[in-house]
Amino acid sequence: MARRKKIYEGKAKTLYEGPEPGTIIQYFKDDATAFNAEKKAVIEGKGVLNNMLSEYFMVGLTNIGVPTHFIKRLNMREQLVRAVEIIPLEVIVRNYAAGTMAKRLGIDEGTQLPRPIVEYCLKDDKLGDPLVTEEHIAAFGWASQQDMDDILSLALRVNDFLAGVMYGVGIKLIDFKIEIGRVYDGDFQRLIVADEISPDSCRLWDIATGRKLDKDVFRRDLGSLTDAYTEVATRLGVMPKGSTPMARPKLIN
Ligand code: 5GP
Repeated sequence: MARRKKIYEGKAKTLYEGPEPGTIIQYFKDDATAFNAEKKAVIEGKGVLNNMLSEYFMVGLTNIGVPTHFIKRLNMREQLVRAVEIIPLEVIVRNYAAGTMAKRLGIDEGTQLPRPIVEYCLKDDKLGDPLVTEEHIAAFGWASQQDMDDILSLALRVNDFLAGVMYGVGIKLIDFKIEIGRVYDGDFQRLIVADEISPDSCRLWDIATGRKLDKDVFRRDLGSLTDAYTEVATRLGVMPKGSTPMARPKLIN
């Protein structure tokens, strides 16, 4: 059997060439990193949970008319997606102050913002993904004005969808990060939601208790990351209650 071709290995995912031109297989690893990869761990089951959760959100977005790269889930760790040209920006939407924004502006974490605030960071690990303005984006040609209008509209639609879905299961959507890709359909090009949507890239707080159910559990050593992500997956019905995402064969000596 021919070995498939690895296209890219990132911190949490590996991309392989897909079976058809224009497709890619996205493999979700168990690796967790934080603070620009200064903190690292392997968290058994994380890749399975993120694969299932990202599928759930991407399918939901597609069903309400928000275009995404998702085609289908292939197995517990892999999904088939459309190949895109990634826009080199991290698009962050915030509903409540937290993380870098709370720190930068001196606002208490958890303070509700007057309206959703969209921020852009340049995707550049070496620079630590610095915050940039639309002026930088236009001047350096990272995206056109039309792209920025489309990105803002996509980001706010994703926010409304995710916030609503989460609210329905007793979870507050504090903030999240998405990535946007460009695809070409004949003579036309359009922007779609790409990469992943999972508790790795969102902040999710339980409404009743304030318990964190996202990657901050790992970043801030708050307990078991798998338990937190399993809680999100169980509430959304993505994982049956009582199941474990670690269905990996164990060697018996
Ligand atoms: P902050 O800027 O407060 O660190 O992050 C804002 C939101 O974007 C959080 O939900 C965080 O998880 C997400 N985010 C920011 N940068 C990254 C990144 O490089 N990778 C991932 N997975 N999420 C990010």
